[in-house]
Amino acid sequence: MHHFENEEKIIQGISGSPGICIGKSYLVDKEGVDVVEKYSISEKDLKREVGRFKTAVKNAKNELSSIIEGIPEELREHAYILETHLVLHKDKMLYGKTIETIEKELINSEWALKKVVSNIKIIFRDIEDTYLKDRVTDIVQVADRIMRNLTGAKSESISEIDKRVVLVAHDLSPADTSQIKLERIKGFVTDLGGKASHTSIIARTLGIPSVLGLDMATRDIKNDEIIVVDGSAGLVIINPSDETLAKYEVRKQRYEAYRANILRTSHVTATTVDDFAVEVMGNIELAEEVVSVKDNGGDGIGLFRTEFSYMSRSSYPAEEELFEQYKDIVELMAPNPVTIRTLDINGDKALSYESSVNEENPALGLRAIRFCLKRKDVFMTQLRAILRAAAFGNVRILFPMISSCEEICEAKKLLKQAGDELEHENIPCNTNIEVGIMIEIPSAVIMADSLADVVDYFSIGTNDLVQYTLAIDRGNKNVAHLYNSLHPAVLRMIKQVVDVGKAKNVKVCMCGEMAGDPFNIPILIGLGLTELSMTPQNIPEVKTIIRELNQKECEKFLEDVFTKTIVADIQKLLQDRFGSLIANGYA
Ligand code: PEP
Ligand code: MG
Repeated sequence: MHHFENEEKIIQGISGSPGICIGKSYLVDKEGVDVVEKYSISEKDLKREVGRFKTAVKNAKNELSSIIEGIPEELREHAYILETHLVLHKDKMLYGKTIETIEKELINSEWALKKVVSNIKIIFRDIEDTYLKDRVTDIVQVADRIMRNLTGAKSESISEIDKRVVLVAHDLSPADTSQIKLERIKGFVTDLGGKASHTSIIARTLGIPSVLGLDMATRDIKNDEIIVVDGSAGLVIINPSDETLAKYEVRKQRYEAYRANILRTSHVTATTVDDFAVEVMGNIELAEEVVSVKDNGGDGIGLFRTEFSYMSRSSYPAEEELFEQYKDIVELMAPNPVTIRTLDINGDKALSYESSVNEENPALGLRAIRFCLKRKDVFMTQLRAILRAAAFGNVRILFPMISSCEEICEAKKLLKQAGDELEHENIPCNTNIEVGIMIEIPSAVIMADSLADVVDYFSIGTNDLVQYTLAIDRGNKNVAHLYNSLHPAVLRMIKQVVDVGKAKNVKVCMCGEMAGDPFNIPILIGLGLTELSMTPQNIPEVKTIIRELNQKECEKFLEDVFTKTIVADIQKLLQDRFGSLIANGYA
């Protein structure tokens, strides 16, 4: 066992996804600056390597030149610093020395550059003169830009990591997270992010432990350090002592044993003791996750977030590609339902190739259905693919971010048009599918009775509903402590939707993260929700809990809940009444 000079250190963040992992840290520096690999270059590749370095320098210079050009007149005087930077690119100490190092030591450009910069820092370390000290700062900045150009700048590709590591990143976008290869990555921790961020949702789907919102993780954790990630408690232990390691090994095993145990009964339908049946389904982001829904005993797919197949690529997918993908999923799940949600991009899920959308307030911007109604070409392609896939199994369509009756009517009109077109073209399809909307905007809750007249079902998306109701950015760690789906306002809204559903005979499901948190289940069952969709990993535990509950008792319990006006009181009620039941295996 290793012994570290460093003390054990515990840092607290926000639980992203449960479970425990122990492993070596791997810092993903989005600027690609600090994490530098060293490898040797053969004599015959030397010229090419030096060429690579020269190109990076040239590109860095060009970048800087355009920055300088873009500086407005009134700030021109500051451009002077950048102009000196331009000159520094070819500075002998930096440029000449790096090439010399590559040639002499037969090593890659990144490593050579890093070495040269460290040497410069050492030489200047003891010098008092502020002019010279500033000069070092300039060189370092110039070197950073060159390095970014060498390493491919902001896109250090997560898909290329080839060790079993724990990722440590300042932030991971949903696109980054969706590239994670399970056999490579044990878990991850980030400085930013909140519980309902798309990053953590994907982590849960992947079934790897994660802790988010750690603030300083990328500063506190060095590359290649042993860390323990306790995703359940939301904490990270850096340089664990032997004692801590032993303790966590035990916890890890206990957690895994617990998982194995609840998995055994997971394929059976979940019914309460008084025979109230609940369909427990899985949320997926990628076609590959169907396996996870099946393995965890999901009764179908309650939410397929289709936008992820539009990310991590360079242009919109074609109808045929989408059709093939949807068809595979639908066939795999048949006869169980697959709820295909139409494109919910923007907000925190921007497409790299859609540069027309650059917003100050993306969460309130041209997101989801709003985008689709504007880009009808993109929308129609997807609608056609969905209707075609519907010929192969049990498909339901779901429209996201509906805030008004106009939007759903417009969407339905286009859906009808897509169906008519396909029929006219004699392409096999099924136009007789259930049409539903996400209830995730307060206006949709208020309009639920009217919306019920034009749709077949509602799916409550608590992630956004909480965000928009409480005015709390779901991905912002500074307000993560206020983000709570048990807020009485949220509970009242859910009840309102469920009541409309009962009155109008419209099925009500829930597919936000709230539905997959074991703690909330007694409330959801009390409300009478008959369909819950969640991260596949949570299905076994939720089913286990449902089987222990009595629906009528939960309904009665809700009366107490609705007398409370404070989240903490509601949590306490739940804890006192159901605490022992929902104590998950690792607590
Ligand atoms: C939601 O908002 O609750 C939801 C399920 O959709 P998403 O998380 O994809 O926004
Ligand atoms: Mg949403």
